[in-house]
Amino acid sequence: MADRLADARILVTGGAGFIGSAVVRHLLADTGAFVVNVDALTYAANLNSLPGAEGNPRYRFEKADIRDAAAMRRLFETYQPTGVMNLAAESHVDRSIDGPGVFVETNVVGTYTVLQEALRHFRALSPEAQKRFRMMHISTDEVFGTLGADGFFTEETPYAPNSPYSASKASSDHLVRAWRETYGLPTIVTNCSNNYGPYHFPEKLIPLMILRGLSGGELPVYGAGANIRDWLYVEDHARALALVMERGVPGESYNVGGWNERTNLDVVHVICDLLDRLAPPLGHSRRDLIKFVTDRPGHDMRYAIDASKIERELGWRPDESFESGIEKTVAWYLANRDWWAPLVAGADGGALARRGTL
Ligand code: NAD
Repeated sequence: MADRLADARILVTGGAGFIGSAVVRHLLADTGAFVVNVDALTYAANLNSLPGAEGNPRYRFEKADIRDAAAMRRLFETYQPTGVMNLAAESHVDRSIDGPGVFVETNVVGTYTVLQEALRHFRALSPEAQKRFRMMHISTDEVFGTLGADGFFTEETPYAPNSPYSASKASSDHLVRAWRETYGLPTIVTNCSNNYGPYHFPEKLIPLMILRGLSGGELPVYGAGANIRDWLYVEDHARALALVMERGVPGESYNVGGWNERTNLDVVHVICDLLDRLAPPLGHSRRDLIKFVTDRPGHDMRYAIDASKIERELGWRPDESFESGIEKTVAWYLANRDWWAPLVAGADGGALARRGTL
């Protein structure tokens, strides 16, 4: 296993976030890659999501902002990476509606800055090293807009983003494509469905419902809870991204998804039932805690990913079904109060309580 990516040096931006930390944990545990975690440590970051990383000789943490060109240049010069996995982003749709500016700054201008510094680095490499270099950009299926009752997003689906978040991600995907077409930077884009799993910041639907349901609080669900999302266990996503770094073809994009469509209401029901089984009982079903609230503006109805390209071309398959992954996730939150309690009690706790929806 450790001979995978054995002499790779990978800059992972956003490595203290939800998906980035899963990627760092996977690269350290299951490959031989040297990993540089580049993260500005916004509210969404948590270095406690990386147990055992500090002290690993194949790991470095660098506090830096992807919008800071001088900092990015220094990191490329210092570490001479063989690849970049760009996960640093503002990622919460509701926050993008309240305050879109920072989404444009980080997701668009930040990605532009990483691209420019990656290109400067790439141009200075030997032809051999250039052949190996990969600039991966991690994006979302939300760039494709919304689906009706049928069909799936494929790599050919036209972009039609509807929220400030998805528009900022779509913009960054276009920049990445253009840096390949115009400058020959070997870029790869991945577009993934909704992730869930351990170490997920509790403003997002699944951890929010777990923690509120645990304490018997209200469970706010947008509209009638009929919106459909396609869920992927975060560790399956991390494995997909490492595989794309190893075997992905520059200039290509890969859709990543778990073939696990669920309505939001179904997701909340499953969480309620798991909590009723695994957590101290409340004396009534936790489904009674559900409260339907005014829908989010521009709320996309359905996302569903066709993941057959990455399955066919790179041999990736998700290990977890939604049922197995969600049970693991609920069990993880029950066993890891030390990780989430400070977040709920901390400065953002009030905001979490007010916001309370995905
Ligand atoms: P997250 O919000 O949990 O983490 C983002 C990380 O980026 C944080 O550690 C934060 O400190 C860091 N960051 C933010 N701005 C930065 C900046 N200017 N400079 C350096 N670091 C900065 O997000 P996530 O859920 O882990 O998502 C990671 C990536 O995957 C994002 O690009 C997101 O668009 C994409 N994605 C997420 C999902 C999902 O379901 N969460 C699905 C598909 C794609």
